[in-house]
Amino acid sequence: MSPISRNLQAVQQQIAAAALKASRDVHDVTLLAVSKTFGPEAVIEAADAGQRAFGENYLQEALDKIDAVRRLRPDLVLEWHFIGPIQSNKTRQIAEHFDWVHSVEREKIAQRLSDQRPASLPPLNICLQVNISAEESKSGVAPGEVLPLARAVAGLPRLRLRGLMAIPEPAADYEQQRLPFRRVRELADSLIRDGVPLDALSMGMSADLEAAVAEGATIVRVGTAIFGKRT
Ligand SMILES: *Cc1c(COP(=O)(O)O)cnc(C)c1O
Repeated sequence: MSPISRNLQAVQQQIAAAALKASRDVHDVTLLAVSKTFGPEAVIEAADAGQRAFGENYLQEALDKIDAVRRLRPDLVLEWHFIGPIQSNKTRQIAEHFDWVHSVEREKIAQRLSDQRPASLPPLNICLQVNISAEESKSGVAPGEVLPLARAVAGLPRLRLRGLMAIPEPAADYEQQRLPFRRVRELADSLIRDGVPLDALSMGMSADLEAAVAEGATIVRVGTAIFGKRT
């Protein structure tokens, strides 16, 4: 068994155990394999082990990789998620080449993604990135400003608003890790009560995925635990 397929199996087991402990259905948690900095052969290795959804942060690297994987393995049907910061002059390529975007934090970017989503593709799935730890340096919309952004995105014709994404600051232990994830879930619940339907919570990475699953994550974004350390 290849290292990547062994790692994938271990992460899937971690997710299953966390779901069981939280009395959740394991099928409600999707593993997004974050392949940034790793080449097309790593993606193919993961895909051959059954992985379908891949996350990328850097646009040019992602476009090259998507193209290389298609050329090498036209038989693979993969789902690509953009999870990195978005510059407004890069929205067209994101709208054309991805299935999901997790890092929308401004209405202007959402408007461009909707305008530029090709008519031949289904609506682009969107998560709004929330700055849940209120760090100066971190990206994301402030929790108090999510509702108007969510309403605006929900009204755009070529986007499908799915949920919220967050990257909390690292925490020392499991209980500490759960707190910001709980706030994300409560924020999503309050949006739903305000009439904005959401069905996705993109939260949890290699170091805190169990805490995220315990608090309701439906997508965990895992890089290191699958592909190894990035250099
Ligand atoms: C890199 C990255 C991940 C994966 O992080 P790991 O700690 O390697 O699992 C998840 N989400 C985002 C937004 C990232 O940039």
